[in-house]
Amino acid sequence: KEAGKNRYQLFDPVSDRRAQSHREFLLRLQQALEAREFVLHYQPKVDLVDGRLLGVEALIRWNCPGRGLVPPGEFLPQLQSSSLELAVGEWVIEEALSQAQRWREQGLDLRVSVNVSAAHLQQPDFHDKLAEALQRHPGQPPRQFELEVLETAQIEDMDAAVAILKRCGDLGVRFALDDFGTGYSSLTYLRKLPVQTLKIDQSFVRGMLGNADDMGIVEGVIRMARAFRMDVVAEGVETLEHGRILLQLGCRLMQGYGIGRPMPADALAGWLLNWQLEAPWLSLQALPSR
Ligand code: C2E
Ligand code: MG
Ligand code: MG
Ligand code: MG
Repeated sequence: KEAGKNRYQLFDPVSDRRAQSHREFLLRLQQALEAREFVLHYQPKVDLVDGRLLGVEALIRWNCPGRGLVPPGEFLPQLQSSSLELAVGEWVIEEALSQAQRWREQGLDLRVSVNVSAAHLQQPDFHDKLAEALQRHPGQPPRQFELEVLETAQIEDMDAAVAILKRCGDLGVRFALDDFGTGYSSLTYLRKLPVQTLKIDQSFVRGMLGNADDMGIVEGVIRMARAFRMDVVAEGVETLEHGRILLQLGCRLMQGYGIGRPMPADALAGWLLNWQLEAPWLSLQALPSR
């Protein structure tokens, strides 16, 4: 019936079963949201030159009873282009702001970042809902709240996206372009977008030691960020060698398993204490930069 009148389709048991299980999974995720089974873990971003904790990135997990922590790659794709995707996105913003406010009450002034899909960003009421969420959390200044924009390649109407970003930017929040270098990002728009930060995708950081192309991309993104007077954060920093090379290339802001894994909110203070005591990473700053 959905395809219109005067049409009929042969019953396809395979795709029917697939559609059915997709609907069931969405229903399960809806329940998960209502039962507060989603949690945010937080991964540190540091400035390797002065050792400072720059902020944390909120990453969603599904604490599924009987299954444990399910990573976002196993349920976010199924949410795509459902209304639940937007509801989960709103929950993430609310929860991250609440946590930021709690940290602040404990004396931790942190910039908290959340991931926002292009689809969510392009919702007509995105700006108003963000403004309301910020108002509900007056303890966290908008300057210390950042949106990492994902899947910029999926933005169809770039001019409209620029306008939304500008309006949201007027609220005081910061923007970063996530996984930079993987999709198609027009240089013309990069200049127009009110974006403060580029995040180098972890695949390039992982590949740069053995692959000249990846190294070239890493260098290129760092140079581009400098040209546009943006910050640049390297993702996927796993080893001291990664850190050393990135510092030499002029990238001092880093995030990765080698620095800190995503962790529950209450583990952050303990991590910070250890990090400040960890000599090997901080010794890198003594190396001359190129
Ligand atoms: P992302 O935003 O690029 O986040 C970085 C991902 O890389 C995270 O995976 C993080 O755990 C992982 N990672 C960090 N450091 C390292 C490292 O040194 N080595 C390796 N191998 N991996 C590292 P995670 O948490 O599984 O998230 C995957 C993606 O799911 C995120 O990529 C983001 O695109 C999306 N995502 C996560 N949380 C949310 C959310 O709340 N909303 C939306 N829309 N997307 C989210
Ligand atoms: Mg709240
Ligand atoms: Mg991200
Ligand atoms: Mg990324």
